[in-house]
Amino acid sequence: MSLRYDNVSYTYPGTSTGVFDISLEIGRGELLAIIGASGSGKSTVLKLLAGFVQPSAGRVLIDGDDVSTTLPEARRLGVVFQNYALFPHMRLWENVAYPLKVRGLSRGERRERAAAMLQRVGMGNRVDDFPAALSGGQQQRVALARALVFEPRGLLLDEPLSALDAGLRMEMRDEILRVQRAAGIATLLVTHDQEEALSIADKVAVMRDGRLIQVGPPRALYETPVNADVAAFVGQSNLWPGRVTGANLVGTALGPLACDTGDRAIGDAVTVFVRPERVTPVDEPATAVVGQFTGTVVADRYLGPVRRIDLDVGGGIIKLETHLREPVTSVAIPPDAVRLLPAGLQNPA
Ligand code: ADP
Repeated sequence: MSLRYDNVSYTYPGTSTGVFDISLEIGRGELLAIIGASGSGKSTVLKLLAGFVQPSAGRVLIDGDDVSTTLPEARRLGVVFQNYALFPHMRLWENVAYPLKVRGLSRGERRERAAAMLQRVGMGNRVDDFPAALSGGQQQRVALARALVFEPRGLLLDEPLSALDAGLRMEMRDEILRVQRAAGIATLLVTHDQEEALSIADKVAVMRDGRLIQVGPPRALYETPVNADVAAFVGQSNLWPGRVTGANLVGTALGPLACDTGDRAIGDAVTVFVRPERVTPVDEPATAVVGQFTGTVVADRYLGPVRRIDLDVGGGIIKLETHLREPVTSVAIPPDAVRLLPAGLQNPA
């Protein structure tokens, strides 16, 4: 079971917008999440696989079969949308069994398979209820059961949790992952919630302006973003314009920072990238030490496990995260916390 895009492009008729040169592969049992700002092309990528639109160029493959022009219902994919789209006049088992009815299974067989699938999503004791009697999270479990009941070749999840409140969203995240893992099914998740993507995906694809800008495991995206866009989109970040001023040294408006400058030459423009949790509070800094700064706190947000502080150090703001309860006015930015990204995009978020 695999889902694949080979250099797929699609432009909406009469416009120049759409998605361009998308290549992705989702293997058996793998969950790939697509994230990106609104309008970046996430839904269009999902629609191309679902068959709601057909590629202008390139191919879409399921288990190696080219399905680029295959009708949606013939693709054998399970789809779950944000609005659960359950049939209100049907019992839960009938809702779940609906795809089996379309496929011509007997009533007895349908009920048996639907009940087993409802059991798998924790709704086994509600088979004869109607959707109106369920909470949002429960309805989404039923929608998931319905998407999986006919043993689809892939699972497409389009913002499946965005209608749920925060606590339930976390719980359903784990639930979806558990069911997806048990089914061993290739899954494409579209979400605007980068935390959701990082927490459950095997691979995350970041889109911007209809193009994929980075695809990789969550850790790679977080720790080694290819540019300031990805850094800003995935988690919190400090992004400062800078220039290489010496061997393993960059100059910024804040002052100089030591870091690995790699094969960059003196004078090269860069974006300096540091995650807030890598900024270390220190007691009074030694004067004129590279990578140490003292400033004024301009924001101090208590978030429970951590505090997120903005420190104005004259040349700019340093964002940091700390577990300390004490006031923080001096910090160090260790060389291994600094990564240099291409110049040009500055604090796009
Ligand atoms: P996302 O899911 O990331 O919000 P979409 O895939 O919906 O992004 O949209 C990608 C681009 O295509 C956007 O510029 C959007 O305005 C455009 N678009 C989406 N749907 C249509 C449509 N039916 N007709 C014309 N343009 C569309």
